[in-house]
Amino acid sequence: MSPSRNVLKFGGTSMADAQAMLRSAQICLDHHAYLVVVSATSGTTNQLLEIASQAEQGQRDRTHGLVDQIKNKHRLIANDLRLSENGPASLETLFGELATLAEGILLMREASSRARDRLAALGERMSSLLFRQALSLTAQNQKVQLLDVRSVMRTDDNFGQARPITEKIRELCAQHLPAMNDSTIYVTQGFIGETEDGFTTTLGRGGSDYSAALLAEGIEASVLEIWTDVTGIATTDPRLCPKARSIPEITFKEAAELAVFGAKVLHPTTLAPAMRARIPVFVGSSYEPKAKGTWIRWQTQDAPLVRAMALRKNQGLITLSTPKMLNQYGFLYEIFKIFNQHQVSVDAITTSEISVAMTVDASVLINKNLARDLSELCEVKIEQDLTLISMIGNNINHTAGLALSIFGALGNINVRMICQGASIHNFCFLVQGNQGEEALRRLHKAFLEN
Ligand code: ADP
Ligand code: ASP
Ligand code: MG
Repeated sequence: MSPSRNVLKFGGTSMADAQAMLRSAQICLDHHAYLVVVSATSGTTNQLLEIASQAEQGQRDRTHGLVDQIKNKHRLIANDLRLSENGPASLETLFGELATLAEGILLMREASSRARDRLAALGERMSSLLFRQALSLTAQNQKVQLLDVRSVMRTDDNFGQARPITEKIRELCAQHLPAMNDSTIYVTQGFIGETEDGFTTTLGRGGSDYSAALLAEGIEASVLEIWTDVTGIATTDPRLCPKARSIPEITFKEAAELAVFGAKVLHPTTLAPAMRARIPVFVGSSYEPKAKGTWIRWQTQDAPLVRAMALRKNQGLITLSTPKMLNQYGFLYEIFKIFNQHQVSVDAITTSEISVAMTVDASVLINKNLARDLSELCEVKIEQDLTLISMIGNNINHTAGLALSIFGALGNINVRMICQGASIHNFCFLVQGNQGEEALRRLHKAFLEN
């Protein structure tokens, strides 16, 4: 009997093949996992969504080609793991569902968001089945059970970006994941959920981290461990800046800012449930499980001015101006009512006497109705293809001379909008899209490579 309620989450690269799965299974044992949350095998969610697009366009051969690729990849892992193929929850049954969904979309030439979610969810349903086997092979004396996360992950019906219903999740976790009385390890799926009416949903791309955090909250876990392909949270994305180095400790508030402002290592909403439930979070590499990784805690030993930086591409800047704003109240209220109606979230914002400027993800600008509704109130200017750069640290909004050093390091890179002051942990600004990566490298060199 183990006293721990540890939740471990493994991303796509940690599920890439039988070898990666066996390595991840060993981590589950070494870290006394109680509940293991897995992503689809690497690249599979993209392929599933591509099937929906190709089938919708009537591309029969391409659709079938992708279906075969997915089947072959999973059959290969099943063979390597000596998984037998019987039973209602078998891989072949899931392949049948995949083929039926693809045929249905081909026939209708239409993929509703509900159908897309059902299709995308197959990735995690397949990988969890394989991972249960990998874990059974590794944990010879422990019972390993597959849990269909849809029995606990209750969400609304906002398909593609479903919102969890946390009270319900807690209740269902208590029913399906009993307080531990034996050493059973449960394996379940990230990313997917189910509505009250029994329709499969997904939590948005990269959502398995969020799933794991919600489940950790639901079972009052002792710890949440996110296992990925990098040795923890780094000072910036190592793919953009090879000199980025792992951060041993970071506070929840800093890590949350980092995730929301673009560090893909954590899904933006992951930390909210862990913070509510005060569960410490660890981020480590399933390729190098002995490397130190990063601990996210309420307090850390040090509080550097700049701990890390992130970048968010494809940002739009909306500038709204009207002389009516001068000495008037109610104008911002009217603006935010419109953003609310269109369910658009604003990331950074600055105001002056007669104008207000805010950044949004460029994808929301595809819908022209937002600009139309805003233009009934004021003059609207929209700029696209910008990158938001965020410097994350402590007291970053109170430090004299910081802005000067930032602009010094940026040199000839032009800054479009600065947003400083709202958070003591974040200083962010916009640059032209094609200068974002270079800006990040220059700042990393100046502030984080000494
Ligand atoms: P998983 O499939 O395990 O969820 P992701 O690809 O979603 O993995 O996230 C891991 C990736 O996040 C890394 O490979 C890295 O390129 C990227 N990344 C972005 N910012 C950071 C950062 N600050 N620290 C570490 N990794 C980062
Ligand atoms: N498989 C899903 C995706 O690729 C969720 C995840 O990996 O977190 O978006
Ligand atoms: Mg991820």
